[in-house]
Amino acid sequence: MRYCKKCIMPDTKPDLTFDEEGICNACRSSERKYAQHKDPIDWNARKKEFEALIKKFKNDDPLTYDCIIPVSGGKDSMFLVYALKEVYKMRPLCVLFEPTLPTKTGRKNIDVMNRMGVDLIHFKRNPLVYDYMVKEGLRRVGDNDWPNHIGIFTVPIHFAVKFNVPLVIWGECPQTEYGGYTKEARSAHVLDQRWLYDYGGLIGNRPEDMVCEDLNITLSDLKPYIYPSKEDLERVGVTSVWYGYYFPWNVPEQLRIVKERGWVSRIDRVEVTYEDYENIDCYSMTIHDYLKFVKYGFGRATDDLVRDIRNGIIDREEAVRLADRYEGKYPLEAARRFCRRFGYTREEFDEICDSFTNRVLFETEKDGTFKRDIDGSLILKKKYVEMRRDPTKSTKRK
Ligand SMILES: [Zn+2]
Repeated sequence: MRYCKKCIMPDTKPDLTFDEEGICNACRSSERKYAQHKDPIDWNARKKEFEALIKKFKNDDPLTYDCIIPVSGGKDSMFLVYALKEVYKMRPLCVLFEPTLPTKTGRKNIDVMNRMGVDLIHFKRNPLVYDYMVKEGLRRVGDNDWPNHIGIFTVPIHFAVKFNVPLVIWGECPQTEYGGYTKEARSAHVLDQRWLYDYGGLIGNRPEDMVCEDLNITLSDLKPYIYPSKEDLERVGVTSVWYGYYFPWNVPEQLRIVKERGWVSRIDRVEVTYEDYENIDCYSMTIHDYLKFVKYGFGRATDDLVRDIRNGIIDREEAVRLADRYEGKYPLEAARRFCRRFGYTREEFDEICDSFTNRVLFETEKDGTFKRDIDGSLILKKKYVEMRRDPTKSTKRK
């Protein structure tokens, strides 16, 4: 394992690479955002590009929407509603694919967003099919939110096709914020089926693989999770873009804007990290973040910390302290709620998580089981904790 010298991301993160200075490609990518790079992003040109796009898709027909915004109730979707409706005077149709285990705060925020004056479709999916995929996603690939990654991307596109609204606008651009500084990433601002299959976190499973004869789940039950056909997409001219490709994604600024409009964060921090505003609409996401930690040795706290480092909000030293304090905590509340909802005992749940836990990274007992602190948390081996503190240690060759 090796950690980036600028942020604290380890190279166990899939597709993370380091340059000769020991800085990761995601940090380099975000330097382009802030003009600290020899080839910075020309935000003025991108803004013009966005305005041309808006002009192209805005229409005068009172019965037609100008664009679709996929929403969850989180800060990102609320911010997009603000940007498109209030700033760009668009008439968006919001499409909600509900989270796996919605929180009260998330539900409240959806109402707040709705009351900003937008039409909203709440897609109440078939829970028999969805729950099966949650459990299979957990069992097969250690990802309890597997069907959510798909549904949030496919369902809004189905509505784009059905309602004949070609422009679909998503939030944070993963390639700009986290992606590599590669030729492909430089032009990757459009989200299509290939993007979903390559970057959408399907981990080799396809929706078609979830047919289950015993439970009578057929291919037609899975249609919402299968991308519309190429013919349909071309007929409507579906154009999916990231707002974060055209404008620098500025979290503190977004928080200020959405809170002024009634959006609320949590009373306490999310249990696996230090902040109270990201992914607060779903308990299941917390489990997903925990599973990432057991597989790769970094989880939600690191994700939050590297974002704050790259955006100049904290320095590396502070990030190390916060990672020591919050990273890898066992998500007790989320686990209890998840087990209750999906019918697992804590032992069964832990056993599944442990089966995906990386033996190289965590302390084990003599009998091969994982060591745990009294709060249920796994113990990241000391050498990795030290490498996180001092990344030069990880580059030493014996
Ligand atoms: Zn980095």
